[in-house]
Amino acid sequence: MEFRRLGRSGLSISEISYGNWLTHGSQVEEEQAQACIKAALDAGITTFDTADVYANTAAESVLGRGLAGQRRESLEILTKVYWPTGPKGPNDKGLSRKHIMESAHASLRRLKTDYVDLYQAHRWDETVPLDETMVAFADLVRQGKVLYVGVSEWTAEQITRGAALARELNIPLVSNQPEYNALWRVIEAQVVPASEREGLSQIVFSPIAQGVLTGKYKPGQPLPEGSRATDEKGGARMITNHLRDEVLERVAKLEPLAAEAGLSMAQLAVAWVLQNPNVASAIIGASRPEQVHENVKAAGVRLEPELLAKIDEALDGV
Ligand code: NDP
Repeated sequence: MEFRRLGRSGLSISEISYGNWLTHGSQVEEEQAQACIKAALDAGITTFDTADVYANTAAESVLGRGLAGQRRESLEILTKVYWPTGPKGPNDKGLSRKHIMESAHASLRRLKTDYVDLYQAHRWDETVPLDETMVAFADLVRQGKVLYVGVSEWTAEQITRGAALARELNIPLVSNQPEYNALWRVIEAQVVPASEREGLSQIVFSPIAQGVLTGKYKPGQPLPEGSRATDEKGGARMITNHLRDEVLERVAKLEPLAAEAGLSMAQLAVAWVLQNPNVASAIIGASRPEQVHENVKAAGVRLEPELLAKIDEALDGV
């Protein structure tokens, strides 16, 4: 495993991390979930990403059980706050001081840890003054319950505003967590330049576009059984954007390129996001331990500029 520093901070995380959205506490049974966590640990992954809202808190509990007994200093545990996890009362959502403090304490209990390494604002909250949010994060940092602070899917402007306040309050704001993969490159235009300016890294989610970049979804063919696209518990809804024939036809063009590079399609996709120097880690998801074993081999892989150009050409217009 290779490690990269988060932003300008001293914190290193594994360049491939493991996340449990849509899987643990939902699509994937406990035993299989624990096998995936074990596979990630065995492969040298030290960074684990979750959120209170995943499977309505159950995903954090699964991860807490999976990491119990590990040497805490060898792990980086990441979670998030924003969405309601149960009743939808007026204080159950967003980035108010009340919701942040209550959510943080509940997450620590479920994760069976005294602190999280990175606590992330899952989205921007336009209804709460930014200084209220940042002071709440600062207090968690001073209390030692949160070591570093991050955000998720913030725009360039939001990152710039957040970073200015973080400097004032002495908060280590070190990362943004956006979707980024060869089919979804939105962050390259503004978010990455703003993050570089402000000293944040990207920890990117859905590096294989939820499975689409493995090539297992074929144009004009039925969805593979047991795949996320057929998961009625929520997965199917989120993946549909990528499941159009014109996208799948272009993805199929990557097959000879992966073979040429001696990589599987999933490995090529994960390696692709890691070529961006502002990306500190690619968070992979997995429904089976074999997927972890396969995808983690993208760590440390360098893709030649000629291959990157061919990928651009194959996917042009997607
Ligand atoms: P991926 O793009 O890695 O997709 C993972 C899914 O793809 C697996 O669950 C599996 O689904 C399929 N897959 C993985 N490897 C293979 C393989 N080798 N062959 C075939 N199929 C494979 O990432 P996710 O979309 O799961 O996101 C990863 C993490 O990012 C999340 O767990 C979460 O931590 C974070 N995230 C954060 C968000 C945010 O708003 N901040 C939003 C979304 C995710 P299956 O087998 O069921 O088809």
